[in-house]
Amino acid sequence: MVNHTEKVVLETINDLIKQEEFKGFCTCDQCLLDVASYALNRLPAKYIASTRGELQTKINEFENQVRVDMIAIVTKAINTVHNTPRH
Ligand SMILES: [Zn+2]
Repeated sequence: MVNHTEKVVLETINDLIKQEEFKGFCTCDQCLLDVASYALNRLPAKYIASTRGELQTKINEFENQVRVDMIAIVTKAINTVHNTPRH
């Protein structure tokens, strides 16, 4: 079983921190984990047993539904961690 939300959150973080807006953001493991935790605590978990065939279609539908929320939450997570780093 895989929490698909976790995978998408990590991809979204990797995409966002490359953008100009987040240029000064610390990308050490601690900060990235903090961002991931913040976002995952605010998004529904989506457990998937397999990624083949029909399930792949469901994953794509799920991604389209949550993508906008995902970007908003990850953006907030990055800003929050950046403003209050733990190191
Ligand atoms: Zn850091």
